[in-house]
Amino acid sequence: MATIFSRIIAGEIPCYKVAEDDKFFAFLDINPLVKGHTLVVPKQEVDYIFDLSDEDLAAMHIFAKKIAKAIKKAFPCQKVGEAVIGLEVPHAHIHLIPIRKESDMLFSNPKLKLSDEEFAAIAKAISSSL
Ligand code: 5GP
Repeated sequence: MATIFSRIIAGEIPCYKVAEDDKFFAFLDINPLVKGHTLVVPKQEVDYIFDLSDEDLAAMHIFAKKIAKAIKKAFPCQKVGEAVIGLEVPHAHIHLIPIRKESDMLFSNPKLKLSDEEFAAIAKAISSSL
């Protein structure tokens, strides 16, 4: 069965898309730690990120770098932090999180509740900063 992220990539489940190319897809995390929290996923359905080939792992980070630059432009921050956890959804993904301090990256923090309009505006702000 396809993962929830494959179904998002296929357009079967809606998302707030930020960008895509032939191999990777970026969209907003639905439970963001901060505004601009974005997920980067390979279109290839692989659970564990370190099972990707060297080429795909490098390419995923090069794609993530472009998204991180756009996030930083749209949501001024000290840095865009990167995290890979992957215990909830078995489809490799990089969390990109604009941070001002270390604790902004704590996944135990309460998640933001945003409206449809807010999510759409955030995705647009990032994609138009690419
Ligand atoms: P992890 O596997 O890295 O521990 O967590 C998975 C992440 O994916 C979580 O931050 C969660 O909010 C996000 N997520 C799970 N399901 C969906 C979904 O259907 N849509 C979106 N946009 N994000 C999701």
